[in-house]
Amino acid sequence: RTKQSGRHGYTLFNHHFRENQADLLALEADLRRALDVDDQLIPYYQPFIDSHSQRLTGFEALVRWHHPERGLISPAEFLPMAQESGLIRRLDRYMIEQGCAQLAAWHDEGYGGETLSLHINLSSENLRDTSLPSWLEALLTRLALPPALLYLEVTESALIDMPEVAAQVMHALHQLGVRLALDDFGTGYSALAYLHRYQFDVLKIDQAFVREVDVHTESRAIVRAILALAQALHLDVVAEGVETFSQLSALRELGCPKLQGYYFARPQPAAAIAWEGLQALALESPCCH
Ligand code: C2E
Ligand code: MG
Ligand code: MG
Ligand code: MG
Repeated sequence: RTKQSGRHGYTLFNHHFRENQADLLALEADLRRALDVDDQLIPYYQPFIDSHSQRLTGFEALVRWHHPERGLISPAEFLPMAQESGLIRRLDRYMIEQGCAQLAAWHDEGYGGETLSLHINLSSENLRDTSLPSWLEALLTRLALPPALLYLEVTESALIDMPEVAAQVMHALHQLGVRLALDDFGTGYSALAYLHRYQFDVLKIDQAFVREVDVHTESRAIVRAILALAQALHLDVVAEGVETFSQLSALRELGCPKLQGYYFARPQPAAAIAWEGLQALALESPCCH
């Protein structure tokens, strides 16, 4: 971190914003305001597909910011600021509230079946928040949602240098019956022992390995090894970033249980989800995509 990188020492990755203090402070103030109104921070939902049954199993919620002046802002552009400013705590809780309410509504309306699940990303800052499990328990009770249908995704890099309290929070979440997923698996530096220590239920294979799984022997070998590891530890696996039929075929051949990516659907607002199409994905035939 350099002195030039602003008050908080963070920078924005996007060229649309000049990386100066005034811009960052203005954006931070805008995010603070956005958290108080209802129509700026929108969860977009991207489906998971069971590669065996070819059926929809759930969605991941991904935040989008419809900024009144700047237009659509992606998470990569404002999460660093949200994390450094502490607003990430409210943002993640907001996404959990919105996502769980949406999941409960889908259940009530009979969309996607009784086991339709929801994944929500949780920033590592929130693993230090010891009030999170009881807050979440109250929310799930109020919505009458089975905790096992909610998955919290944390990235592998979030576990590095995690204080003891993070392990306690994750344990409490697990006790509650909420599931834990390790996001971007294979790109961080965590020891494999963490998989056991933090009681993960799901591994998400990073897109970096999926991208070349159909053409590169090494990527294929890594995916095969992750699948073997997951099977030995009784973990479910999702491959992220599946974009082509060729990748899909390679992953099915390797026995990857669940798939997610633009090939099936891009993240989209709840109202835009095409349920009929998702229930009948023609996985066998590349002609339809
Ligand atoms: P992630 O959780 O690993 O999510 C996967 C990212 O890959 C998403 O980007 C998704 O839109 C994108 N993606 C999905 N399928 C494909 C594909 O086939 N090809 C390609 N090229 N990309 C694909 P997005 O939505 O921009 O989110 C980026 C990251 O921001 C997420 O990575 C997650 O770590 C974080 N994030 C998103 N929403 C939230 C949130 O509500 N809270 C927190 N704490 N983090 C969030
Ligand atoms: Mg994720
Ligand atoms: Mg990921
Ligand atoms: Mg990611």
